[in-house]
Amino acid sequence: APAQHPPAVRTTCPYCGVGCGVLAKPDSHGGAVIAGDPEHPANFGRLCSKGSALGETLGPETRLLHPMVQSGGALVRTSWDHALDRVANGFARTAREHGPDSVAFYLSGQLLSEDYYVANKLMKGFIGTANVDTNSRLCMASSVAGHRRAFGADTVPGCYADLDRADLIVLVGSNAAWCHPVLYQRMMANKRERGAKLIVIDPRRTATAEEADLFLAVAPGMDTALFCGLLVHLSETQAFDFAYIDVHTTGFAEALTRAQDIAPDVKKTATLTGLATADVARFFEMFTSTPKVVTCYSQGVNQSAQGTDKVTSIINCHLATGRIGRAGMGPFSLTGQPNAMGGREVGGLANQLAAHMTFGHESVDRVGRFWNAKAMARREGLKAVDMFDAISRGEIKALWVMATNPAVSLPRAGHVRAALEKLDLLVISDNVAGNDTVRANAHVLLPAAAWGEKDGTVTNSERRISRQRAFLPLPGEAKPDWWIVTQVARRMGFAEAFAYQSAADVFREHAALSAFENHGTRAFDIGGLASLSDDEFDGLKPVQWPARTATPHEDSRFFAEGGFFTPDGKARMIAPEMPRPHAALSPEFPFRLNTGRIRDQWHTMTRTGLSPKLGGHLPEPFVEVHPDDAMQAGLVAGGFARVTSPYGSCVLKVIISEGQRCGSLFAPIHWSGETASSARIGELVTPATDPYSGQPEAKATPATIEPV
Ligand code: SF4
Repeated sequence: APAQHPPAVRTTCPYCGVGCGVLAKPDSHGGAVIAGDPEHPANFGRLCSKGSALGETLGPETRLLHPMVQSGGALVRTSWDHALDRVANGFARTAREHGPDSVAFYLSGQLLSEDYYVANKLMKGFIGTANVDTNSRLCMASSVAGHRRAFGADTVPGCYADLDRADLIVLVGSNAAWCHPVLYQRMMANKRERGAKLIVIDPRRTATAEEADLFLAVAPGMDTALFCGLLVHLSETQAFDFAYIDVHTTGFAEALTRAQDIAPDVKKTATLTGLATADVARFFEMFTSTPKVVTCYSQGVNQSAQGTDKVTSIINCHLATGRIGRAGMGPFSLTGQPNAMGGREVGGLANQLAAHMTFGHESVDRVGRFWNAKAMARREGLKAVDMFDAISRGEIKALWVMATNPAVSLPRAGHVRAALEKLDLLVISDNVAGNDTVRANAHVLLPAAAWGEKDGTVTNSERRISRQRAFLPLPGEAKPDWWIVTQVARRMGFAEAFAYQSAADVFREHAALSAFENHGTRAFDIGGLASLSDDEFDGLKPVQWPARTATPHEDSRFFAEGGFFTPDGKARMIAPEMPRPHAALSPEFPFRLNTGRIRDQWHTMTRTGLSPKLGGHLPEPFVEVHPDDAMQAGLVAGGFARVTSPYGSCVLKVIISEGQRCGSLFAPIHWSGETASSARIGELVTPATDPYSGQPEAKATPATIEPV
């Protein structure tokens, strides 16, 4: 009889916020053959290098397979019962003895929405503190804050189809060719097939800039000045849509006056941004004369001590021209992680509640009643950087880290590692047996299911909820994160509120909460999915929110006709602060250190590092330097250099590149203690944060460089 091959399973890529559909066909060696899903509306069958190599990253080699507890200074294998008891008793005792704010969870955009929801509910509704934050704070918190203050809700107005229909795409602080490759391919297809133009605004000439019709190497941190200059130009060329401004916005006059103060003309804009006047004028003219324009922004905008104002200055230009929520138009935040958006939805951030609700009295009361909460948090918790400072001061004594590696990825990572060592209880649920955070001071390790083994949902940058489906058996004693949290909650005495038997149970509850006392007044509403049966949840096709009915519209957009989620239904045009670097350069630290991703690696390489193919692209940690700076510092290509900031230092291989601005350095974020102990770039990054979003400034730390 012919061999029976299992069918391919439809799932979603676990890397970036594009959220590509994947067909995974299990092979006979515990791995899978991977292909793009031609029916998924994010990618229509395309995959980038990382997605294509997913099959190489499966397997038990580096996995945490059993619960472990610290005993006599070593981590030893134990039973689930013992490990869960220790976690539940430890958190309960700490909260009882030192108050609920003495405990915290640090979550991840790698978690599924169901995992995120249950953890958030336990902490904010039953332990009684909002000390739940996530590595998404490092990813898109400034976009969240910018959306909320402009639109009254954290809402991306458009969808990916707008990138196919725009006549001009402006990419700000985004190396989409490497970091959102499949979306970049859609942009390139639009350029090829429809003649769309591309403008790239970035201090660094990246791979993305290669296809740009106009590349603007903006001075670090000066994006707000550029978009204020654009607003002034739109005014002078009578390009405003006053019908839209009058009916659908407030704050226009103040925003324009501030823009005139900051960047009154093209010349001043050019001076502030370090650009040629002719290039600035060309950008202004292209934007002004092209109605169908989408402005995409990513970490170069978000990871900034003035990130929220940068987002605001971009949104102001779209609101003032009414170019929002229509096909081919709008501001568009490109989310970094696969489920940073889903984390925002379920309240993974310390300043949010589930279903996009915030800490207003009414929302706290509503969520508390829905959950039948035993100890409802009534105020915002500590954001990531503040949370680890509180750990360092001994105020937080018990921490649960899920699916992330803050000892490498947070700013001032050395300080974070030292803080972790002070904890009375550090619980880590992850699927890798060892990382820098584990080595810091783990008391309990809980083996979590990995991609391909777990079930649930993720939401991508266009608000599209897609299923991640299991196609491999759980290895060893690994369990889904939602199950682990549920077991701890039951042991803490909350069995009734945590009676979930499946990820589908969790999804239905969150969907019902989104519709609870929501009469179109809140943007996030997936109530139409609250009554899915288990089979319907299993077969759920990718769906954009809002999903108020079981059959929502395709390609949903917000705000073409106003309808903002503010009390008066109008958008807020906000006057941004004068842009300025958060920390001055000095003779000791004369460079600005920029950090970011490379094409073929993901975060701290715990998964992509397993693929030989991906490792071949840029195999070593490096620093990119402009040729003039290299000559002055005595650096040679391929040699090694020590990069030092006020917070730490790293030794990196030197790449000399014309793409760097003079006075700037670039180093990738991926390497950690496991592969190169001196290349943990997070050690060097400043802990300065945006005052509205709490997002760290990861793009402009003062630094110096010398040969070694
Ligand atoms: Fe995965 Fe992003 Fe690549 Fe798509 S673009 S395959 S989501 S890494």
